[in-house]
Amino acid sequence: MIFIICNMNAVEIIKKKRNGGKLSKEELEFFIQSYLTGKITDYQVSAFLMSVYFKGMDDEETLNLTELMLNSGEIIDLSGLKGPKVDKHSTGGVGDKTSLIIAPQVSLFGINVPMISGRGLGHTGGTLDKLESIPGFNINMNVKQYKDTLSEIGCVMIGQTSTLAPADKKFYALRDVTATVDSIPLITSSILSKKLAEGAESLVFDVKMGSGANLQNEDESRELAKKLVSVSKNFGKKAIAVLTDMHEPLGNKIGNWLEVEECIEVMNGSVVNDLIKVNNVLAGAMIYLGGKASSIDEGEKMAADALNDGSVYNKFLKMVEVHNGDVNYVKDYKNLKRAKYSYIVKSNEDGFVNGLDAYGFGLASVELGAGRRKVDDKIDYLSGIVLNKKCGDSITKDEAICELFSEDEDNLKRAEVLVNDSIRIENTNNFKKNLIIDIID
Ligand code: URA
Repeated sequence: MIFIICNMNAVEIIKKKRNGGKLSKEELEFFIQSYLTGKITDYQVSAFLMSVYFKGMDDEETLNLTELMLNSGEIIDLSGLKGPKVDKHSTGGVGDKTSLIIAPQVSLFGINVPMISGRGLGHTGGTLDKLESIPGFNINMNVKQYKDTLSEIGCVMIGQTSTLAPADKKFYALRDVTATVDSIPLITSSILSKKLAEGAESLVFDVKMGSGANLQNEDESRELAKKLVSVSKNFGKKAIAVLTDMHEPLGNKIGNWLEVEECIEVMNGSVVNDLIKVNNVLAGAMIYLGGKASSIDEGEKMAADALNDGSVYNKFLKMVEVHNGDVNYVKDYKNLKRAKYSYIVKSNEDGFVNGLDAYGFGLASVELGAGRRKVDDKIDYLSGIVLNKKCGDSITKDEAICELFSEDEDNLKRAEVLVNDSIRIENTNNFKKNLIIDIID
């Protein structure tokens, strides 16, 4: 094999995929190893990624790519830890904040939740950015600290370390800036190389469907869900994918601290909204896969009970403390922390809110400073959007639809244009809520 690898050529591999050919495991290995060791360049890998974007990969190629990316780094062994190990991963959405609730919630049932999350990407938010809006919250742990935290409190939330799936880390940064994120084999191998490396035995995938999802086409979202489940099973993991709605933002708040605030409100019972249903179905699927419930429905009910009795909020505070986060900052959430400038978007007419386009709201939140345009952009943790209305609500002329927050006054005008283009108000209520579109296992 070494002889074959030595005779391979990156340009020929790119050309083969560009022409729709099937790449062997050896060719993929050569390509990944050459990239990691600096023998091929970012522009060659960009061309490769674009070829995969257009020509796709079959099941065997996707499986091989996932395995090679997984094996590009360390694989954490959690077998010494008592109890099931179950994680959840979302394909990315707008206002999608369930991880912050789910990790403490599911750990209450004797299930370890080892969570390695990502940063915001394009119009979608990222769990790490949300956690870091809590002053002091440490998402950078080494493997020992990660395992110790997990064994101490049953959940841990960190970022991808340099040793975990390094091939994905490099690929991902290029995909973000070369318009090659929305490719099923690339998303599958990216998500699974990280998730398989973190040590979980079972995985629940929240695959978003709708304008705010990574894949805009609904058939593709369904295909991605099936692929995530089947490739996970190939690696000996139990897996369930839940297809959830991302036509409108999830919950009422978008932006890093604003989303943490909403999670606190949901966990302490002061707010009830659509976030809870999606959250509890995902948590229920995790509790079921962890063997603590006989069905997803039963798991969902157990998750709801824990949310209602306050134990999830207490566990969240414990998680913040163990990650060195400022617990008093969290407890003081009622003393609203808001960006310097704000603007209320009002309705021009009476009617019903039939559309709040998640993609447009995601772009507006980036414009306000809650997300990044470039990898090294600074995030404004207090910027974002509070939705006063959700789809299906009635509205009267001059009533507030949402409020925009930013540290920079100029951002408000640009975001307002995006938000106005994303709102659909009509005379009749045509909106049908379907939060849980399907469950694939
Ligand atoms: N999340 C990931 O980790 N990778 C992707 O490609 C998309 C979402």
